[in-house]
Amino acid sequence: MDIELYNKYKKLGRGNWGKDLTMWKMMYLGFLNQYRDEEFTPILDLLLNIFLDLPKARKEGKLVIMHSFNYGPELFHAMDLEPLMQELFSVGLAPLHLNEPYIDFSNQIGYGDNPTICNAQRPLIGSFMQGASPIPDLLFFLSTPCNSLAMTYQVFEHLAKIPAHSIDVPYWAYEQQDNEFYDENTIAYMVKQVKDLIIWLEKEKKQKLDPEKLQETMKNVNQSREYILEFNELLKTVPCPVPSQAGFGNFLSMVTRGGTDDAVKATKWLRDSALENVKNGIAGVPDEKIRIAWPYTHVFFDADLLTWLEETFNAVVIMDILGYYQVLPHDISTLEKCYESLAKGTLDFSMVGTCRGPIEFYIEFLLNYVKEYKIDCVIIPMQFACKHAYAIARVASEAVREQTGIPVLIFGCDPYDSREVTSDAIRERISEFLTQVVL
Ligand code: SF4
Repeated sequence: MDIELYNKYKKLGRGNWGKDLTMWKMMYLGFLNQYRDEEFTPILDLLLNIFLDLPKARKEGKLVIMHSFNYGPELFHAMDLEPLMQELFSVGLAPLHLNEPYIDFSNQIGYGDNPTICNAQRPLIGSFMQGASPIPDLLFFLSTPCNSLAMTYQVFEHLAKIPAHSIDVPYWAYEQQDNEFYDENTIAYMVKQVKDLIIWLEKEKKQKLDPEKLQETMKNVNQSREYILEFNELLKTVPCPVPSQAGFGNFLSMVTRGGTDDAVKATKWLRDSALENVKNGIAGVPDEKIRIAWPYTHVFFDADLLTWLEETFNAVVIMDILGYYQVLPHDISTLEKCYESLAKGTLDFSMVGTCRGPIEFYIEFLLNYVKEYKIDCVIIPMQFACKHAYAIARVASEAVREQTGIPVLIFGCDPYDSREVTSDAIRERISEFLTQVVL
């Protein structure tokens, strides 16, 4: 980023953001400094503006709606609400280990511990009680992918006394095509809940949804989805045209700014970068030797882990489960079709699509990932509190070994807390696996 741009963003961050946004402002300045010497990309632009938009929304009297990481905010943008993807706060603190004091405080007050409640959201409780978390006007969350998430949001709802709404995500498939898990009620059940959500938002905002604005927003969503699908296809190329973290930019764009021009710009830029590199035979990781599937979340407290893998083993992580965004563009020609698209977008969202139903959904996802992306090995860092995923990963790893012969490493750690299993221990475990099993 050139110095003028850096100074511009520094200036934009000045002023009083409000008491509950003190930590939010610190995060903004932290990211700005962290990326000071990096190339200024549409993804970085988007990230910085997410932070700036919150105090701006407050000043403009716009309602802020906090939502969980497994939901695309297009409807909120269409209704001119300011979405705040909560985990950007509670997980965004992890690379600097600033979430750990709040994890400890949550322990002290007796709100769970690592094996029972996930530390992706738990710092929200501790930080709220210490006056450090952003306080939204409205709260929205899903029932999936885990009880842990839904539980923490309910606790937050009652502690902060914020009007809240949630959607119950059904278990079954919605596409018939000889699918043994098909249930004809799946889409109707979801569309009904989308409509209920709109009624609730209209009541809270005291303003009706503008159908034209929704259609415009959904056009943008479709456009971004097309770019992402192309990007995902391009990553099948050997060598992979982008480095390990690139795919996460698509997730960040869609989960924070889905439906906006900013998300269209960011996803287009990622697609264009991958395409350009494929055309020129440029690898994301020079001299690529190992292609890794990472079908779970990153180890968020260790921001350098994937760079270390690239530099030490010439290994590229193709995409993590969040970055592997797979929602298709939909027919949005009528208002009813827009509702259906919102319903399908929720059912298929990153992690929700693979983890909301029978174990076969995840197994199929992982087998396709391994086969289509010419994967050499699978690595899954598994969170202690994520008990359902532990079981899923173990069974899926057996299917991968049997059907493809590709080795799988599952290791326990807390991706949000550097003190449970340290960075060094994780690197040792991965090194052992790559040198003794994969190479
Ligand atoms: S890591 Fe597992 S337990 Fe934590 S929020 Fe995600 S699905 Fe839930």
